[in-house]
Amino acid sequence: MATGGTPARHADGVFEMIDGIGIHEVIVETTSHDATLSDLDDKGFSDVMKTYRQRLMNCAKNHDVKYALIFRNSGLLAGASLEHPHSQLIALPAVPHMIADELETSLVHFKKKGTCLFCDMLEAERRGAARVIAESSGFIAISPYAPRFPFETWVFPRRHMSAFETLDDDAVDSFSKFFKGVLSKMGAVLSNAPYNFMLHTAPTGSGPLNHYHWHVEITPCLTTIAGFERGTNCFINPTSPEEAAKALRL
Ligand SMILES: [Zn+2]
Ligand SMILES: [Zn+2]
Repeated sequence: MATGGTPARHADGVFEMIDGIGIHEVIVETTSHDATLSDLDDKGFSDVMKTYRQRLMNCAKNHDVKYALIFRNSGLLAGASLEHPHSQLIALPAVPHMIADELETSLVHFKKKGTCLFCDMLEAERRGAARVIAESSGFIAISPYAPRFPFETWVFPRRHMSAFETLDDDAVDSFSKFFKGVLSKMGAVLSNAPYNFMLHTAPTGSGPLNHYHWHVEITPCLTTIAGFERGTNCFINPTSPEEAAKALRL
């Protein structure tokens, strides 16, 4: 994909398309071909996270970019097409439905209650504790209430912030330590099963949002998406989030 020019929408009868304007970057995480991300030392891991921040900030300079997603495919089953350890950034001329849904649902909650849905959810998870995997002074990892996949894990900053890019250097370092711990434990418990992770941050250039809270969703690939899931977008998950949290707890 290339940048430059405002993307035009084209109609063709009932069909509609938008120009493929955007950015695709491969973030090479290490010079070591056989390493995994969680093998990197603290500085190496933090450098990767700082690169995420820098590349997301770079996208904000481009007014055609409406959303930038950082993601990682680990293992063939997770869709990794290159063997060398890497993550990717894809920036789009529109906000994808999944993010738009999160933004809309959290905005409805904010309008009703005046609070961030994610902050409220984290408070409830901390009170119940059964789905909390790990917690530091700045970050928390949970098994979500209704996970789509076995051992699906979400990582949040405990303090309300809508954009990952606004973390300062110290906060990136402490996030890196925490996130690396979660990934390492997951690798150990799940025998290095393939996984994807996706960094959900506020839309590019949106400024601070009261109702949205950035997070990372980690989805191990342990089950197959079959007819029911494809036909309904509902997911059958044989592992309860409480069992998953217990196994993954640091
Ligand atoms: Zn929040
Ligand atoms: Zn999300």
